Amino acid sequence: MQLIEPHIHMVSRTIDDYEYLARAGIVAVSEPAFWAGFDRCSADAFRSYFHQLTDFEPRRAAQYGIQHYTWLCINPKEAEDLHLAREVMKLIPEFLTAANVLGIGEIGLNKNTRNELAIFQEHVDLAIRHDQLILIHTPHLVDKFKGTKMIIEVLKSDKRINPDRVLIDHCEEHTIGLVRDAGFWAGLTVYPVTKCTPLRAADILETHGTHRICVNSAADWGKSHPSLLLDTMLEFLRRGHSQQETLDVFYNNPCRFMGQNPRFKLKPNAIG
Ligand SMILES: [Zn+2]
Repeated sequence: MQLIEPHIHMVSRTIDDYEYLARAGIVAVSEPAFWAGFDRCSADAFRSYFHQLTDFEPRRAAQYGIQHYTWLCINPKEAEDLHLAREVMKLIPEFLTAANVLGIGEIGLNKNTRNELAIFQEHVDLAIRHDQLILIHTPHLVDKFKGTKMIIEVLKSDKRINPDRVLIDHCEEHTIGLVRDAGFWAGLTVYPVTKCTPLRAADILETHGTHRICVNSAADWGKSHPSLLLDTMLEFLRRGHSQQETLDVFYNNPCRFMGQNPRFKLKPNAIG
């Protein structure tokens, strides 16, 4: 079965990972801009990063027959530096015309600070002014519930926002209801530690239904692995869900969300 990985940081991954993804049937990946594990010291460092995301990385993926899409922003962690964040945001419009850019992301909150919130709102405004899809990171562990509520409040208070065009990622049992009840797409991230496990993600899909949910591994430079997407798909199949239901979650849902940008080339599929 073909799969789509809607959230992964390939710049941090090796060629072995691309080989694995290709063997696992993953035909497209989407890579949000994020924190490199250290703070970048200038807007120029982000310019180089955006070049990597829009030029080098899609060519690397293409060697394995994988389509590579990306999202641009300064991540919430580095958004604490307001001056740097605003300099980086000025660079974004010139990259929005690149062939693999799907929108603005992953923006959001990390520690739910006032500065993070200000830069989140400015990114949302940038996305709307440029008619872009939005991909949102929610905070970790103890900050997640409050941060998710703050994010939804910001989005709901802006009448220009169409919830169909926004995905709120890293949802867990206690936040997925908030996100979907407000009309947004929800992301489930499957990790070896923190966030969801394959079993918990499968439970959530069964409890909440599969509508408007995209599952991802969000594999990056830390303890994470691209195989967790396939592991979750296998767990979902093992529980007796049909091939068509499985395709719907792991291929068609990402197509439905990301396909709202005409640059995304894959279309929802039916088995047989
Ligand atoms: Zn991420």
